[in-house]
Amino acid sequence: MINDDPYIAMQAAVDIVGTSTHPTNKIAATLFHKTFSISRTNYWPEPILAAFGMDTRIGNSSGSVHSEVATLLECKFPTNGARLAVTDPPCPNCVKNLADAGIKEIYIDHKGFDKDWAQRRGGHFQNMSMQICEKAGINVHILYRKDKRVETVFHVHPSFVPVQDSPITKESVETLNEGAFQAVIEESYTRHIRRKFAVAIMQDAHGRYHALVARGNAVTGFTMEDPEDVKEIEQHQHGPSHKYSLFQEPVNRLLMYRAKRGFKLCDGYFFSSQVPTSREQVNLIGAGMKRLTVGNPAKARDPDALVAMKQLSDAKIIDYR
Ligand SMILES: [Zn+2]
Repeated sequence: MINDDPYIAMQAAVDIVGTSTHPTNKIAATLFHKTFSISRTNYWPEPILAAFGMDTRIGNSSGSVHSEVATLLECKFPTNGARLAVTDPPCPNCVKNLADAGIKEIYIDHKGFDKDWAQRRGGHFQNMSMQICEKAGINVHILYRKDKRVETVFHVHPSFVPVQDSPITKESVETLNEGAFQAVIEESYTRHIRRKFAVAIMQDAHGRYHALVARGNAVTGFTMEDPEDVKEIEQHQHGPSHKYSLFQEPVNRLLMYRAKRGFKLCDGYFFSSQVPTSREQVNLIGAGMKRLTVGNPAKARDPDALVAMKQLSDAKIIDYR
């Protein structure tokens, strides 16, 4: 299959969208790049569906994973430089993750703009999702399948490099063992004093292990060095649109870095200095994680994260240590 054709990619998404388990908002996406193509719908990870069904919120998050994030969580190939075709306008959270995973181009099916979801959330897409794409250097197009036509919403200069406040650090680890994992965690505590951070050991395509460390920071393309960005970030934190933030949490950053590099997670070797947000915990399950080490289990961004931890711990979906 040729993987550089956005029409084929979009058709692959449209072909499976009806299989989405979501009762009302059925959405599908295809992530494609030279040698691979992966299509997914939005869905509830099996352990969440079995324990809670579709209607229970996990903390303040839906128990479902959006189609765009599903492709990133499940892709085994490096997603850096890849493109995405999606049936609906993506929400700001998905766009944040796409930016971190190195996605360079998004194609949105024009029919997606007529749907109920797009009508209700249109504002978030227009303002926040598009703003993040622009700042993160992601080109956006609307795709008309019937006419075989693409309308470019905006195009970023190919040489554009988005800012990033705090790059993820990577160091090699000789062998996979608890001692090596703990050593990286201890060292990270001295480097990220009073900051939340996450550590994961991942395996590359050659079987080598790497320890990755990320702290929370402004979304790719935004920086705390720029007063305009700071104003924007604070507005989203306290304003009426606080449903979405312009911060990217450390666990999400590591999950997206894994996709970007095509690494493999090692279950049991994932650490978060505090309780991850509800959404991060759901994403961890989507990524197949069953164990998580938490530095301070009493500390979290919001009380909902603690609720999510209790739910998932009681249901034995994640083993928190
Ligand atoms: Zn989304």
